[in-house]
Amino acid sequence: MAQDTTSWGRWPRQQQSVTRLSSRFDALPDAAVPMLPHGNGRSYGDVCLNQNGLLLKTRGLDRFIRFDPRTGVVECESGVLLREIIDLVLPQGWFPPVTPGTAFITVGGAIANDVHGKNHHRMASFSRHVLCFELHRSDGARYICSPSENPAWFGATVGGLGLTGLITYARLQMRRVGGPWFRGDSQRFGNLDEFFALSKASDHDFEYTVAWVDCVAAGKQLGRGIFMRGNHAHGEGREPKQSKLHLPFTPPLSLVNGLSLKMLNQLYYWRGGAVQDDALWHYGPFLYPLDSILEWNRIYGPRGFFQYQCVVPEQDAERSIHEMLMRISKSGIGSFLAVLKNFGTMPSQGLMSFARPGTTLALDFPNGGAKTLALLETLDDITREAGGAVYPAKDARMSAASFQRYFPMWRAFSAYIDPKFSSSFWRRVTGSTI
Ligand SMILES: Cc1cc2nc3c(=O)[nH]c(=O)nc-3n(C[C@H](O)[C@H](O)[C@H](O)COP(=O)(O)OP(=O)(O)OC[C@H]3O[C@@H](n4cnc5c(N)ncnc54)[C@H](O)[C@@H]3O)c2cc1C
Repeated sequence: MAQDTTSWGRWPRQQQSVTRLSSRFDALPDAAVPMLPHGNGRSYGDVCLNQNGLLLKTRGLDRFIRFDPRTGVVECESGVLLREIIDLVLPQGWFPPVTPGTAFITVGGAIANDVHGKNHHRMASFSRHVLCFELHRSDGARYICSPSENPAWFGATVGGLGLTGLITYARLQMRRVGGPWFRGDSQRFGNLDEFFALSKASDHDFEYTVAWVDCVAAGKQLGRGIFMRGNHAHGEGREPKQSKLHLPFTPPLSLVNGLSLKMLNQLYYWRGGAVQDDALWHYGPFLYPLDSILEWNRIYGPRGFFQYQCVVPEQDAERSIHEMLMRISKSGIGSFLAVLKNFGTMPSQGLMSFARPGTTLALDFPNGGAKTLALLETLDDITREAGGAVYPAKDARMSAASFQRYFPMWRAFSAYIDPKFSSSFWRRVTGSTI
């Protein structure tokens, strides 16, 4: 029976049937409608949705197959969460080399979006550390894929948006760490010039760098924010308690609006604790600050919200980001969760991977209808002109023309799509009818 389903942005809301997978050895369903794997639904838009189709929910594929504490190699099914991997490997001195800003994502979702983290300039994206995975196609074929075995299937499936088939299990390389701690500092910067200077000066000595930007500031303060940097460290601190905070209901209206945003941005920029020297952070608040409030996405009310994440090449980054922040500030729409980071130059492994050299800006906007969509289209104009790209994992609205400009390899990629797989995203951005 069709179910009403949304992703993390809670927009769009679409009808689709759902099957829960429970064994990696089972055949795929013989469905009359297109299928799509669905991990933990932490993508913001429709890349994990399949209107009028069938979602293959993978969280039931949650078994660890083996872990070797001498080499740090983990083999697990594709529905295992990064959080579960950390719980297993960290006590033995290992950690995932790349992780996004939430640990509530599955291994399959991490590969299919080839996710990146705050250490992209050192460690590139997730697929760099994937030793191999199994790809299960609807005709029953199963391919073991790695950079050396079936490399074309590997390259198409990494960042392949779940369209090339079902990833059943994967073998991943972890990296050594001294414990759950990070040592680093955080500091205010007054404008974009200062961000770029800080980033340049930090990338050599710090593996993890990221900045929060005040999107409401204007004039001379445009682009001000807080820069945070750190490295894995040995240390002894008190482990934070696992948070049980939970937004228990969806408010009838977004709690994030022009007024609250102005106040929140001011308060956050000037808060005590924004500037810290030689801080020791637990990995939880350092890597996953938002994971401490479960279902925080409800704060945006029943209409949900948009996330916009773009990357623009280095040579145009300062001008383009400046222009975007100016448009956002002028629009009065504002964003609170605005993140700025420089990606590194190590190429991604996937034909369709998003992360590429340049500066990435990620922002959340309450869904204010046409006005918000118009602002996002303006941001797309700037991204397109700069030769950048928008991240499909975060998108629910980019036009087909924009997508095809950002990912000109989409036609070559199409040859690898499983004939029985499709997604709402793919139909929207390519005009495909299946
Ligand atoms: C708070 C927050 C912070 C985030 N920070 C970052 C960040 O810093 N960097 C970043 O890159 N992303 C970030 N993201 C986005 C998130 O990491 C990606 O969207 C990720 O792919 C979600 O994984 P998931 O398991 O929830 O998969 P879903 O969202 O359910 O699916 C994502 C894609 O993977 C495909 N897929 C899932 N499982 C399989 C499988 N077994 N086989 C084949 N295809 C499969 C789906 O079809 C879909 O196309 C963030 C998201 C949130 C909510």
